[in-house]
Amino acid sequence: MKRSLDKPQLLLEHHLKALKLPVFLNEYPKVAAQCATDKADYAAFLLRLSEAELLERERKGTERRIKAAKFPTAKSLDDFDFLATPTVNKKQVLELARCEWIDQKENCILLGNPGTGKTHLAVALGMAACRRGYHVRFFTGAGLVNAMVEARNEKTLLRLQNKLAQAHLLILDELGYVPFSKTGAELVFEMISQRYECGSIIVTSNLPFEEWTSVFESERLTGALLDRLTHRVHILPIEGDSYRLTQSKARQKRTTKTKGGET
Ligand code: ADP
Ligand code: MG
Repeated sequence: MKRSLDKPQLLLEHHLKALKLPVFLNEYPKVAAQCATDKADYAAFLLRLSEAELLERERKGTERRIKAAKFPTAKSLDDFDFLATPTVNKKQVLELARCEWIDQKENCILLGNPGTGKTHLAVALGMAACRRGYHVRFFTGAGLVNAMVEARNEKTLLRLQNKLAQAHLLILDELGYVPFSKTGAELVFEMISQRYECGSIIVTSNLPFEEWTSVFESERLTGALLDRLTHRVHILPIEGDSYRLTQSKARQKRTTKTKGGET
């Protein structure tokens, strides 16, 4: 049933819209009724509404930041099985999820074989940062180079660089799968140099540091890049087999056992 609105109510709803307080607008009749039942005073009524408005604003902000980060998939630390990857220090990861290292403009490097959960952890830490109000941007190494080369051709490189500089955290996933072109290597080096002590980076790679020269081709450039990247860094070496492979082997074993049991 439609509520019949008298003039003060109409005005109130107009003002709440103009002030961009949608939760106040939608919830005030319900909260007013609750407050009347609870015999809560006017201050309590305002407090309840403003808390609900703030919560909704935070939720929407997180949603916007997660969308803008362009993560490939949603991953969380709750879904990460630390028992399956014992070399990952759970305490260290939970500490990183508190994001104090981002305030300190420090970096984080995840090193390990394919399938060991590097992307999962990088995305989960990125999403945790979004929830805490930080601006994050996710790229694969190759994706970043493509975006930068394209921007340079379209004469918008500076705009892209400025935009990336605004992110509190930049995630560079899969460094090492594809060697960079000379231009690509220089652009990535420039980006990492610009962020040095200005913003945080998470890098994931399947290659140990000694082999990074094969990605950037130049020994001099790789040395200078590692020097900046690892000055204040949290390194998470992940050892072990691919999680995917281990899971599918376990599944296969279960299926064979079940089939064996049936015959
Ligand atoms: P990498 O980036 O190291 O190649 P991924 O993070 O892509 O590995 O992991 C491969 C898949 O296995 C993903 O679906 C990921 O969610 C899952 N996975 C890896 N390690 C774990 C883990 N310890 N707990 C839960 N899922 C995991
Ligand atoms: Mg990966």
